[in-house]
Amino acid sequence: MRKLALHWQILLGMIFGVLFGLLCSQFTWGQSLVIDWIKPFGTIFINSLKLIAVPLILASLIKGVSDLKNIAQLSSMGGRTIGMYLFTTLIAVTIGLTVVNVIKPGETLSESTRTELLAAYANDAAAKQSVAAAQKEAGPLQALVDLVPSNIFHAMGDNANMLQVIFFALFFGIGLVFIPKEKAKAVKDFFDALNEVILKLIDLIMIAAPFGVFALLAALIAEAPSVDLFRALGLYTLTVLLGLLLMIVFYLFLVRIFTGKKIGFFLKGISPAQLLAFSTSSSAATLPVTMERVHEHLGVEEDVSSFVLPIGATINMDGTSLYQAVAAVFIAQAFGMDLSLSAQLGIIATATLASIGSAAVPGAGMVMLVIVLAQAGIPEAGLALIFAVDRPLDMCRTSVNVTGDASVSMLVAKWLGKLGSPKVKNWDDNYPNS
Ligand code: ASP
Repeated sequence: MRKLALHWQILLGMIFGVLFGLLCSQFTWGQSLVIDWIKPFGTIFINSLKLIAVPLILASLIKGVSDLKNIAQLSSMGGRTIGMYLFTTLIAVTIGLTVVNVIKPGETLSESTRTELLAAYANDAAAKQSVAAAQKEAGPLQALVDLVPSNIFHAMGDNANMLQVIFFALFFGIGLVFIPKEKAKAVKDFFDALNEVILKLIDLIMIAAPFGVFALLAALIAEAPSVDLFRALGLYTLTVLLGLLLMIVFYLFLVRIFTGKKIGFFLKGISPAQLLAFSTSSSAATLPVTMERVHEHLGVEEDVSSFVLPIGATINMDGTSLYQAVAAVFIAQAFGMDLSLSAQLGIIATATLASIGSAAVPGAGMVMLVIVLAQAGIPEAGLALIFAVDRPLDMCRTSVNVTGDASVSMLVAKWLGKLGSPKVKNWDDNYPNS
């Protein structure tokens, strides 16, 4: 019998996870069953993905850069990548501001719900505020200083230091381009083989993906807050979702127009990464799968995918910036504030920068939202208003973040003549069990 394609398997895992979580949350013993016996498998699954992120970036980026003919190629790729990332983020914030100003979800929030939410989530909001305060204290050039590690092993010891690992890999790759070919060969061959091994590990981990997402979603549902709060924030949730949907349509349009590839081809190729981003709420944890899908299933050559995607996972978060724009204006509307045009333009600038600064982990977008609120003069305590629905929205915006990175990598590959046909034709035939 023909095996079900991977994205269907993952989708089924997600559906069963939600149903199982709903069933178990009816009973107190059910809740602890999920938390004690199911959730750990989800954690193991995420950990196994995170485990290979640093070696993957190192191996694929060093191999990718050392394959380049010269350094001019690298700077042209860098310029296009950063330019496209900025462009898509600006579009995302603009879409966010447009939908929230048209729908005005904050104006429909009743006085009693507002008071209830502010009281229920005041502590959670304060926790995010204090994380943001620590980040805000840094000087203007701190981001640049943080880019250069003083010890590569130290940098590799923490997944949060992804940009430092990227910096080292680029630097090392450039060194390899400059030394004589026969001397570079041994090092290149090593990283080449390492890269192959890691891509194979991703295939192996993905066999467990349907079970991993089952465990993650079952735990999420069992621990979710009451459904009533979701209902109170329904219009806000719908506004964010509509904005995110429009953003996806924008990517599909970009890919179709500029690469000539069919929308179905793109979605089929990237969907396992999108589903995983949704289940994990982390672009960093999803990165290994995004890289494998884009290279092997969408046909982006490795020197492009290994450069564009890790950078995208850390700095390009279109879903996050769109959400930050909607959330900031929603909170202002809920407090009866009228935001001037210049305040809204300020939101475009800060949400763009805040999404660049957000870490690629669950809930990070909300920490940086504090900075957007402060800049626009919106009460930071308003964070409590949107806390209840942050996790489901985080799941959706993370999917958009990953889709944005994949789309830009296809565009950059096309412009550099590095978009070929996919390595894997039947897009499940590299999974060992199919
Ligand atoms: N969870 C998001 C990501 O990993 C970041 C955020 O918006 O919270 O891409």
